[in-house]
Amino acid sequence: MATTEAAHALTLNYRIDADDRIIAVNDAWGEFAEANDGGEVVADKVIGRSLWDFVSGEGIAELYWQMIRRARAGHPVEFTYRCDAPEWRRLFRMTVRAHEHGVVEFRSVLEWEEPRPKVQLLDCHQTRDARWTRVCSWCQQVAVADEVWLPVEEAVARLDLLAAETMPQLTHGICPACRDGMMRKLQPA
Ligand SMILES: [Zn+2]
Repeated sequence: MATTEAAHALTLNYRIDADDRIIAVNDAWGEFAEANDGGEVVADKVIGRSLWDFVSGEGIAELYWQMIRRARAGHPVEFTYRCDAPEWRRLFRMTVRAHEHGVVEFRSVLEWEEPRPKVQLLDCHQTRDARWTRVCSWCQQVAVADEVWLPVEEAVARLDLLAAETMPQLTHGICPACRDGMMRKLQPA
């Protein structure tokens, strides 16, 4: 399937102050959050709150902490991550960069997106059962066993979810490959 180049380079942007409070989000960020069922993170509800209220998932806060520390030490951090919707694959490139007075900017530019058949597991309106499934916050692969992570379409088949009426709940984490990649970027300069 051909990918669609982002026609007008969607850019999502937010900033934190020296105390890690969110002080600004751009309009595109708010529009994107709303369009993607991120209703709880609309702009007026996040300004003034701690970034750490929104960073969850096993091992993720630790990586963000390291990224922010590195950025404030004068070394911007850049990486790509997937931010998919049930019917879209999307790749963003994020740059974490410090400004004056400890302000840190998180800027994400959409590199590409492509449509796909709807993946029920990622639909936030889907009925959930008591099971839990881990999704990597960086590559959006899904853990089907302890050390086995697969693209969501393959994981859904492997976990026998294609015809299931209810889906497991999703919890975010980071897969070993993405963790290794981030740790390399976060090595002391
Ligand atoms: Zn990953």
